Amino acid sequence: MNRARHSSLSKSTFLMGRQCSKLLWFRYNAKDQIPAPDEAKQAVFDQGTEVGELAQQLFPGGMVVAPGIINPQEVIAQTQAAISKRVPLYEAAFSYNGGYARADILVPVADDAWDLVEVKSTTSLKEDVHLPDIAFQAFVLTGAGIKLRKCFLAHINNEFVRHGPIKPNKFFTLADVTQSVSAMTGDIADQIDAMQHVIGAKSHPDIQIGPHCDSPYTCALHDRCWSFLPEASVFTLYRGGQKGFNLLQRGIQKLADIPADEPLTDIQAIQRSVLIAGKPHIDRPALTAFLSQLEYPVSYLDFETIGTAIPLFDNSGPYRQIPFQYSLHIVRQPDAAPEHHSFLAVGPADPRPEFMRHLRETLPSTGSVVTYNASFETSRLDECCELLPEYQPWLKKLKTRIVDLLLPFRGFRYYHPDQHGSASMKAVLPALTGGGYDKLTIQEGGTASREFLRVTFGEVPEAERQQVRRDLEAYCALDTLGMVQIVERLKELTATQPA
Ligand code: SF4
Repeated sequence: MNRARHSSLSKSTFLMGRQCSKLLWFRYNAKDQIPAPDEAKQAVFDQGTEVGELAQQLFPGGMVVAPGIINPQEVIAQTQAAISKRVPLYEAAFSYNGGYARADILVPVADDAWDLVEVKSTTSLKEDVHLPDIAFQAFVLTGAGIKLRKCFLAHINNEFVRHGPIKPNKFFTLADVTQSVSAMTGDIADQIDAMQHVIGAKSHPDIQIGPHCDSPYTCALHDRCWSFLPEASVFTLYRGGQKGFNLLQRGIQKLADIPADEPLTDIQAIQRSVLIAGKPHIDRPALTAFLSQLEYPVSYLDFETIGTAIPLFDNSGPYRQIPFQYSLHIVRQPDAAPEHHSFLAVGPADPRPEFMRHLRETLPSTGSVVTYNASFETSRLDECCELLPEYQPWLKKLKTRIVDLLLPFRGFRYYHPDQHGSASMKAVLPALTGGGYDKLTIQEGGTASREFLRVTFGEVPEAERQQVRRDLEAYCALDTLGMVQIVERLKELTATQPA
């Protein structure tokens, strides 16, 4: 059947349509109701752009087609003019049968043919997303008259370690996906037709929420579609997976309404009973045993890190988390006031040598070292020791003193209904102590990392840079002061008998 075309589908809207036809309908009919990407998502897009530009150097001597122009007709016209030059083309655009594709890289090969290279800033091929993306482009390009020889995905080489200027042929891995893509292109015309039908409908399709809302990406309409659920919904079940959807299908939205005979894990059963009882679950013997491990002086330690796709420093790899800041609260003896120490890297040099030197100098050589999710801090220290092996003996001893404050919460030895199934510090601190991050300018680690990068590597007025550094100090300090408060509160709870 020949349907009227409503709008061209780009590769990103084609992928949206594969994830959910309701999202696709909104994208073309009510775009203003789709929230703009937040800073975290925008930062991911920006990194993707940088990686894309680096990949162009894999095929040098080429030209960017219609730089800065987004009008499809104009880009297509300029592409047609560029094709005859037979040089690598970056961002060339084509349209065919309701599809519009702007190819990352087209490389001229023998017999008037071209190779298509799609660039991704992931460290592996993700078949369910990348292959349909490339198949869509191959369909459009071939339909528009381009003779394609091969299709490649250029993704980041996870084994890459920087030594000096980045060499693109070492940084990227080229995966030949020609065969898998050819097997998929036969379906693309039907998929585009079906999507055009959705776009042309008067109202959005009635799609229920499901696992597809977070796969392959968290949908931009997530908050809107999921807003009918109560706060303590069946989806806050700890490691609930598909169970939440099964319960919802049976008409059960509230976690407290899950029938008593429903099979639940021990932890999920605690969640339900806490909601019904309206008071927290406190496993006093387990918490007492946990607290009895603490030896004074107790050091509460937390790191902040940066991890960029393109490594900033020698001897580091893609997305490798580099510590740039720590906060340390030391409680020298029971009931003593906590002392605060901190480190925040200055300037764009590799922060690891100074970070390690400062930490070894400041951290007491005896007593417990409390962190929240200890594997994060120990992994960063292990990585720093790869670069600075002279710290190995110090780290070996330090590891024997580490106590992970996450463990009693991940084991639900204490659980408050306001945690909504989460054992993260952001959930535990307010539920247990009434404290929290809401008065701070920087309220979570992702923002801390982006802000540090912005004021350290970007052009920022000095006054603003200093303000951000104060905000970073305040944020990291609360992470460790929060741990002190959590331990103090656990002590109070274990010292009193249940009411
Ligand atoms: S949240 Fe889920 S149901 Fe709603 S538009 Fe997105 S994917 Fe579709």
